[in-house]
Amino acid sequence: MIMLFDAPPPTIARTSDGKGFPVRRLFCIGRNYAAHAREMGKDPDREPPFFFTKWAETVVPDRTSVAYPAETANFHYEAELVVAIGKGGRRIAPAAALDHVYGYAAGLDMTRRDLQFEARDKGRPWDTGKNVEQSAPLGTIHPATDVGHPREGRIRLTVNGEIRQDADLSELIWDVPETIAYVSRFYRLEPGDLIYTGTPAGVGAVFPGDALVVSVAGLSDCAITIGQAADA
Ligand code: MN
Repeated sequence: MIMLFDAPPPTIARTSDGKGFPVRRLFCIGRNYAAHAREMGKDPDREPPFFFTKWAETVVPDRTSVAYPAETANFHYEAELVVAIGKGGRRIAPAAALDHVYGYAAGLDMTRRDLQFEARDKGRPWDTGKNVEQSAPLGTIHPATDVGHPREGRIRLTVNGEIRQDADLSELIWDVPETIAYVSRFYRLEPGDLIYTGTPAGVGAVFPGDALVVSVAGLSDCAITIGQAADA
């Protein structure tokens, strides 16, 4: 076959069964823990769910270094439970939603917070704040057939060993079935889609050399380090 250029392979996420999970799209839920909504200056009781998207290529496996991105002075971590979709569907009912889940992982929704806030406050798209190169570190995906469907359990993030985020999955405002139902109203979910379910309170800035670990009860940790700025 004659190729126009050497395209990178699709992003394949690691799974605990060794099969690999070809990533299609990322849907990221915003302000899905009340205490985090408040720290962002919003009232969690008055908002329907909302989401933004990231390219599949923003996914990087854990145990790698994430280059500090360009055009920011306030790069933030957000520890999240990630849902891996294994079966497609449109307008999925909450009661049927878990049938569409392949598995779960711990992940990070890394954010250029200064650019996100500027966009938010000017009513502009969030792309430059959220859809950032290497901004979606992802731990090993565990099939639901092994770990079930977590509805409670600790979600925690440490930076250089110090706890910065510490909450429970039961605090999610919109739970996993509701989130799948909501996103699938707007887009037909497809196998390979990932849903980043939102972050608890305690978000903050990272710096080159920082070591981040996301722990979600029952799942593998997602650990990364922050590298120097990418210069090429
Ligand atoms: Mn997030």
